[in-house]
Amino acid sequence: MNLSFKFEEYLEKLEDIRLLADMEDLALSINDSPENYRLEVLEMSKRQPKTYSQLINLITEISIRRKELDPMCFFPCVATDEYVETLPPDAKKCMQCHNKFQEGFEIVWKPCGQHTFCLKCWKMRTQGLEGMPQPYNAWCTCVGFKYI
Ligand SMILES: [Zn+2]
Ligand SMILES: [Zn+2]
Repeated sequence: MNLSFKFEEYLEKLEDIRLLADMEDLALSINDSPENYRLEVLEMSKRQPKTYSQLINLITEISIRRKELDPMCFFPCVATDEYVETLPPDAKKCMQCHNKFQEGFEIVWKPCGQHTFCLKCWKMRTQGLEGMPQPYNAWCTCVGFKYI
């Protein structure tokens, strides 16, 4: 599979959305994109700082209004500095790598609603690529469970 070709197609689709719709639809599309595509396109948009800050403001709104816009959590929860500031202290960083969520990265919530993973750590945890895999639904640190 040629990833760069697919990314070109993705950019064309985003351009169509921008021309046919508006910034809100564009932000929604970027929000719902796979993490690597989202990060790439946000990085590109930094060349136009006004566009970048408009997109980040809209993504912040999508994340803050998540319970109302996406109650079944079908779509990614995307970090922005402003959104991360609103989170409970333990949720501001990945419980595995302890890195604070950077803008554009995906936040994977544990069912407890208090703890979070970055996408990379969540995949490692659930797919067993590192040490002892923990199922996503395992008891959480907030109920006294300690990860190995
Ligand atoms: Zn992590
Ligand atoms: Zn928890």
